[in-house]
Order: sequence, then C-alpha cells, then structure tokens
Amino acid sequence: MQKILNYINGEYVEPISKKWLDNYNPSNGEVYSQIANSNAEDIENAYQAAKVAFPKWSNTTIDERSRILLKIADLIDEKLVELAEAEAKDNGKPLSLALAVDIPRASANFRFFGNAITQFSSEAHESVGLNTMNFTLRQPLGVVGCISPWNLPLYLFTWKIAPAIAAGNTVVAKPSEVTPMTAFLLGEICSEAGLPKGVLNIVHGTGPSAGQAIVEHKNIKAISFTGGTKTGEHIARTAAPMFKKLSLELGGKNPNLIFADCNYEKMLEVTVRSSFANQGQICLCGSRIFVEKPIYKKFKKDFVEKVKQLKIGNPFDAETNIGALVSKSHLEKVESYIKIAEKEGGKILFGGNRVTVKDFENGYYLEPTIIEVSDDQCRVNQEEIFGPVVTIMPFETEEEALQMANSVKYGLSSTLWTSDLNRTMRISKKIEAGIVWVNTWLNRDLRTPFGGMKDSGVGREGGFEALRFFTEAKNVCIRYEG
Ligand code: NDP
Repeated sequence: MQKILNYINGEYVEPISKKWLDNYNPSNGEVYSQIANSNAEDIENAYQAAKVAFPKWSNTTIDERSRILLKIADLIDEKLVELAEAEAKDNGKPLSLALAVDIPRASANFRFFGNAITQFSSEAHESVGLNTMNFTLRQPLGVVGCISPWNLPLYLFTWKIAPAIAAGNTVVAKPSEVTPMTAFLLGEICSEAGLPKGVLNIVHGTGPSAGQAIVEHKNIKAISFTGGTKTGEHIARTAAPMFKKLSLELGGKNPNLIFADCNYEKMLEVTVRSSFANQGQICLCGSRIFVEKPIYKKFKKDFVEKVKQLKIGNPFDAETNIGALVSKSHLEKVESYIKIAEKEGGKILFGGNRVTVKDFENGYYLEPTIIEVSDDQCRVNQEEIFGPVVTIMPFETEEEALQMANSVKYGLSSTLWTSDLNRTMRISKKIEAGIVWVNTWLNRDLRTPFGGMKDSGVGREGGFEALRFFTEAKNVCIRYEG
C-alpha cells in the first residue's frame, strides 16, 4: 500500500517511530494508503533542516526566490489532472471542483506570492527638523510553522507556505492527517522546481502529536494556522507564553442576507453554490440564510426545487455536484446536528438522509439539507456544522436582518443580495465579518486582506498582509549632520 512519507531536507523519509495511520478514501470508505504518524522527534528533524537552510535562503535574491515560486506554480499547472485526482480521492470532493478550483488556486498561490515579493517594499519616514531618517527593515522571521485543515487541502496549505518562503523564511508544515495526499505530492514538485533542501519540510501526522510539537517548539517563531475555533484557542494558549507570532483563520457561521430588491435569478443560482459547494465544507459557505419576507415563500419553494436537482455521487463522475463528506466521523457529526434541529423544532424542508451510491455503498454521502428555523438563536443557527446543511428564516426589516447576522460568536464572511447601494454601504459598515460579498460569493482577489473577526480568528492573510505577517518590522533610525 502506498506510504505517505515525510518530506524533510528535500528527501522523503519514514517517521522515526515507524508508526502509520490509515488514510481513507471517503467515496468508498476504504483505506488506500498509510500516513506517517509523526511525533516531536520528526518535527525536531524538520526544524533542524529548516534552521540550517534559513541563512542561505533568507539571503537568496528576491529574483531567485520569485523564479523558484513561479516554477512551482508552473509544475502544479502541468500536474493539474494528477493532483486534482489525488485531491478528489483523498477528500471526497467532486473531481470537477478540484480541477476548476483547488489545484488552480494552489498554483495561483505560488504565482501570486512569487510576483508579490518582487513588489513588496517598506516605509521610510523622514523626521523633518530633527535630522533623522527612519526606514523599516522587513526581515524574515526564521523557521515558521504552517498548519492547515482538510477541506481545501492543497489550496490552503500553499496559501500559507507560498508567502512564508517568498518572504525568506524556512518552513515546517503539517497538512491535516485526514487529507495528506496532495501535500505529499508537493514535496517532489518543490524538489523538481529547485527549491533548496530544508526550505520547506512537510511532516504528516495527527494534530495532537505532530501539530502540537510544531506549536510547542520553542524556536519556531510563528504559527500560521487554519482550522477550527477550538483548536485555534488551544494553539493560542500554547503559543502565547512563548510570544510567537500567530495568524489564526478559524471557523465561521456565515450569514446570507437576501433582500427582495436583488437580482433574484442570479441570487438563487449563487445561493445554491454558496450553501453546498464542496459539500458545504468551505469555511466561507453561507450557512444561515435570511430572506426578506415578501420573497420568502417564493425563495423557499425555488431553493428546494434547485437543490433537489443537485446530483450526489461518486466524485469522479463528471455529473456529480455533491461528493462524499470527508470522513465517517465528520458525517456523523453533521447528522447529529440534523437530529438537534429536529429536536429544536426545525423543519427539514429537504434532505437530512444518507445517500447510497451504487458501487460506492460505504462512502460518506449525505443529502444537501435545508432546515427552516423560527429562532435564530437555536443551536443549528449558532454552531458551526461545516457540512451540507443550511438554515433559512424570514426577516422583516434591515435592522432585524443585521441584528440576526451579527448575533453569533463568529465573524468570518457574509453575503448580501440587494440592488440598493445605500443599503449595501450601511450593512457593509455594520456587519461583523472579515468579508462582505455583495451580489456575489467566493470572489477572491488575492491582494485583498482575508480573515475573520470575533471567534473566526486573529490576523489577516492575503496580499502584503501575509508578507507582513511573515516578516519582522525593524525601525532603523539614522541621524545625520545637516
Ligand atoms: P482542526 O482544527 O481540527 O484541524 C486543523 C489542523 O490543525 C489540522 O492539520 C489538525 O491536524 C491540526 N491540529 C489539531 N489539533 C492540533 C494541535 N493541538 N496543535 C496543532 N495542530 C493541531 O480543523 P479541521 O481540519 O476539522 O477543519 C475544519 C475547520 O477549519 C472548520 O472549523 C473550518 O471553519 C475551519 N476553516 C477555516 C478557514 C478560514 O480561513 N477561516 C478555512 C477553512 C477551514 P489533524 O487534522 O491531522 O488532526
């Protein structure tokens, strides 16, 4: 059976313990590879390789770093089909989605930061009258840790690694043990692109073992983490006494506010996607849908009709809209929320059941599920489910919509459907979310700041924000005789 090895110092190596974890294919529930079950010793080896690589890499010219990142991007593009197939098999997502979104975005991440680093600059401040000139040195931090989740595996893994190495850091990175395959394949791509050994080290294993060892490592200077809010809390608690720099991209429970004056057809089409793309396992999915009363009944009927047409099936089938959920335990967690909804008096308008796919009977398939709720404070409306489950509820006034949108502990993204510019501005200013999409969803310009408010995280990724995170700003103040 294929072994998913660690990539340390430019070489694929077994975990020191020689222990392995099973890697499941969610589309059929079968174990299809073995993952290195790494621990603190493997992390130490990765750290040592990164430490040795740092002085040279941090002094490598910007042009050279950029050239290597762009080469990695090109190689990812060349291997699009192989990587997309690996992602679909490992994660359960439709191959069509991996081909159109996940893998192109992974190459875009390297291309974007390969270019961005050539444009990154720092400030200068002349203290007029004092004969001093200040400039800001932006230096790489050293060895940094990158930890990513399973929902957009290569997409989010590279979103951290690319700016980290572009800025001159060296990296110890851990993908989720639930979806390690494309991170494993990235190692050979980096070697082929000429990334010097030790600049990127990829260690596989569980969060509590390999992940925790990265966070606890006293010489790993910063942690860029994407994952659940509870894990983020734990990481913050562990890292804070060591004063590590932290970027935490955490959970969400995003509102989708639909006003009667919107472009109805466009809204309906996009709302189906923003609810159920990637089986609803995108931190940016709009899982709480609030609809203005005059169009509520119509929306309810049309939305259910559209969702009924989605085809659930084998991720490799070109017709499939909804693939398998990522794991059995995640499927059970999502199902438990459907039961909670029923107990709380929610009305299941569609879905709620497992689906048996012919020849893939042991896969983790669930119907897209629409629940009508009458109280926005119920648990299914407050807690992150992270699956193909949305709630819908009517509202009467803009104030009420805004109040419900903000009445959660999360604040990652939001979607607003309206043709009223004044309303757009009013709501955009008041809504508690790191992103406000107006009449669109998941439209991403990589130069923009990305991140959440409240329990959805701390810090911003994207554009120069990411390069700032991965560098230390140093003020140099020069006095001259005038
Ligand atoms: P987890 O928090 O469970 O895991 C995320 C990563 O952290 C995994 O690699 C995991 O390893 C690792 N990890 C777990 N425990 C520790 C620890 N003690 N120390 C260090 N690392 C640890 O999240 P999921 O993988 O379940 O991902 C889903 C969550 O991610 C959702 O809440 C979703 O909203 C959020 N997310 C947020 C995004 C954002 O941009 N804000 C984007 C995408 C997802 P392992 O899995 O191997 O145990």
